[in-house]
Amino acid sequence: MSDNERFDAIIIGAGVIGGAIGFELAKRGYRTINIDKLPAAGFGSTSNSCAIVRAHYSTYDGVAMAYEGFFYWKDWDNYLEVEDERGNAKYMQCGTVLLKVPGGHHEKVRPQFDAIGVPYEDWDRETFAERFPFYDQGIYGNPVKRPDDEAFWDDAKGEITGAIFTPDSGYVSDPQLTSHNLQRAAEAKGGEFRFNTEITDIRRADGQVLGVMLADDTQIDAPVVVNVAGPHSFVINKMAGVYDSMNIKTKALRHEVHHVPSPEGIDFEADGIHTSDADLGIYIRPETGNNILIGSEDPECDPQVWVDDPDHFDNTVSEEQWNAQVLRFARRMPSLGIPREKRGVVDLYDVTDDWIPIYDRTDLDGFYVAIGSSGNQFKNAPVAGWCMAELIDKVEHGHDHDNDPVVVTTRYTGLELNIGFYSRNREINPDSSFSVNG
Ligand SMILES: Cc1cc2nc3c(=O)[nH]c(=O)nc-3n(C[C@H](O)[C@H](O)[C@H](O)COP(=O)(O)OP(=O)(O)OC[C@H]3O[C@@H](n4cnc5c(N)ncnc54)[C@H](O)[C@@H]3O)c2cc1C
Repeated sequence: MSDNERFDAIIIGAGVIGGAIGFELAKRGYRTINIDKLPAAGFGSTSNSCAIVRAHYSTYDGVAMAYEGFFYWKDWDNYLEVEDERGNAKYMQCGTVLLKVPGGHHEKVRPQFDAIGVPYEDWDRETFAERFPFYDQGIYGNPVKRPDDEAFWDDAKGEITGAIFTPDSGYVSDPQLTSHNLQRAAEAKGGEFRFNTEITDIRRADGQVLGVMLADDTQIDAPVVVNVAGPHSFVINKMAGVYDSMNIKTKALRHEVHHVPSPEGIDFEADGIHTSDADLGIYIRPETGNNILIGSEDPECDPQVWVDDPDHFDNTVSEEQWNAQVLRFARRMPSLGIPREKRGVVDLYDVTDDWIPIYDRTDLDGFYVAIGSSGNQFKNAPVAGWCMAELIDKVEHGHDHDNDPVVVTTRYTGLELNIGFYSRNREINPDSSFSVNG
């Protein structure tokens, strides 16, 4: 027996998903430690998340997991079982409209909503106009354009046919605080957190993980190590020697989100709604201070900026992308005008080949991954925590997940989630939107 500190499970990362896995494992009696090189929980990519909670994914499994997530956010205080001294994050249930445009995402989504029982309303144009009079209903994309395209300012070519409204969706007030809440919840169950501590190697022998090596050369032992390193996931997989053996890979992708003030006379913070606009290739949600937040839904014309070193990337808002996202939104909300100040945040998505995450074991026994969250798993963090804890517990007790995928019964809806759907060795899923919509 070595003199090293020893835990039942080491979780690499204390973002929102890492925190949720720590909490769920600690609840199941594991002695856990979340280790993060940053100074506090949720200081990585989670801190700049838009934290939108919606159910419109392209696949049955994607919708089912996100639908289950709604219930965690609505029940957040009870779920945590503790009061955080900083307060608990709040769920802002503003609802979502998914605009109906020919060939739009709603065509894939609606059958899944029906199959799973996600509550929704199918609005015609008139209902949409009545509820959100500030929105123009023109079709300007088809395909989506950038402002330097000479057709960008052309008149509308037809109108959207309405919207799918989901009343239960919304966003979480403060993603960093959410991670801190999970830290406090895990600590109350005996979990530990260590910050400003960098993992530099994954120790292993005879096909079994042994623990981690830290930057100061100390070692920590555990029979279970979970990679929840967000955009650094590929770096950690390479340390563990499992990168090459996985069929699905992860890469870091730069993403900009912009903030603009609501135009005069509109209180978007109170009256606005999360909007998924397939015609213009953008998503929008209310933001505190009566602002509007605008992100890209990754249309083909938007350049993809892959980042080789997740510790070094340009985190300033670029004029080109600000124009692309904000001017597109100005077409949907003509009263927006053209705000002068370019404000926003820039961070990294951890993207898989098919924009669907990997929740799985690996070929190294005891080494697990909850990675490739592809800009769309904040909402699923507590569900992922539950699923990973169930997976780890079953596999550590001898279950052969690779040949007989673990099926997890969810906490609130009782839906069954086949964790094999998120396999590291799946073929690229052709049903994916290959965008943040998953
Ligand atoms: C701009 C943006 C907008 C988004 N919007 C949404 C949204 O609206 N809705 C939604 O559902 N999802 C959204 N997402 C995705 C969501 O935020 C992420 O899926 C989620 O936050 C990932 O959490 P995580 O815990 O896996 O990773 P992270 O929060 O990235 O945490 C990983 C942690 O690992 C640590 N780490 C890495 N390497 C090491 C090491 N060697 N040693 C120690 N620690 C290490 C890092 O410091 C970091 O804190 C968005 C993401 C971004 C970037």
